[in-house]
Amino acid sequence: MEIVKTENLTFEYIRRDENDNVEGITTAVDDVSFDVKPGEFIAILGHNGSGKSTLAKHLNAILHPTEGTVWVDGKDTRLEENVWDIRKTAGMVFQNPDNQIIGQVVEEDVGFGPENMGVPTEEIWERVKESLKVVGMYEYRKSSPNRLSGGQKQRVSIAGVLAMHPKCIVLDEPTAMLDPVGRKEVINAVRGLNDVEKITIILITHYMDEIIHADRVFVMDKGHIEMEGSPREIFSQVEKLKALRLSVPQVTELAYRLKKKGLDIPNGILTADELCEALKRCR
Ligand code: ADP
Ligand code: MG
Repeated sequence: MEIVKTENLTFEYIRRDENDNVEGITTAVDDVSFDVKPGEFIAILGHNGSGKSTLAKHLNAILHPTEGTVWVDGKDTRLEENVWDIRKTAGMVFQNPDNQIIGQVVEEDVGFGPENMGVPTEEIWERVKESLKVVGMYEYRKSSPNRLSGGQKQRVSIAGVLAMHPKCIVLDEPTAMLDPVGRKEVINAVRGLNDVEKITIILITHYMDEIIHADRVFVMDKGHIEMEGSPREIFSQVEKLKALRLSVPQVTELAYRLKKKGLDIPNGILTADELCEALKRCR
């Protein structure tokens, strides 16, 4: 069974004036259908306003479809009785770690989720320890979160979600507020969750270089899924990505320009190593 499935998902934000008359309607997600299999790493790309966050909020039953259906682990998100199970199954990590961390001490913060779920105290500590180790923050367990860097804080928020033992984690631009070092730390932690812990990952980002490890990439534009494919298939379409106002990784761009100048280089180069190999073959 799919861990996440949407069928013709459409969501409209309705603006009303003070007399409750409809002022305007924004269709933020427009007829989106997709499946995610357990253990997959999905990346969702798209420029600002393309509907990524609105889509993400449906996967955690924060928003409900205007039309269409969303199932998380087979459960329809529209049914009130499913909401608790859905939030346990699909954890969310947002852009700003400061809005997600509430504890005064790292280990306390990570324990809040399982505590709210009624997990027995002894097991909470086990989960806290294990989750902090997974994201490489165990040695900071006694620290105050506000002394941590952005990347460290975001890893603590991820540990907090992990401690609830979700099958799937949805991350909505988790690196948008981080410096390059913090971004790398967070992306490596996310890869570990997928590779080692086998957790399904849905990573929303507008950084192209963060998607190269995904199994599948969806590119959103104006509420639709405009492109879908492996990272290599997506990065082979430089012109189309640019038309969608997305920039490709520098190395992909360079390879693309060299190819355009007549060098015999394959499409969809993802790493500097691949480009070097391709260039060696050109001689
Ligand atoms: P993204 O995350 O890709 O930037 P969003 O899902 O935030 O996209 O937004 C999609 C569209 O919905 C945009 O046109 C945005 O202006 C609109 N939108 C987002 N949130 C709201 C809201 N709370 N009320 C009204 N319109 C909204
Ligand atoms: Mg967003």
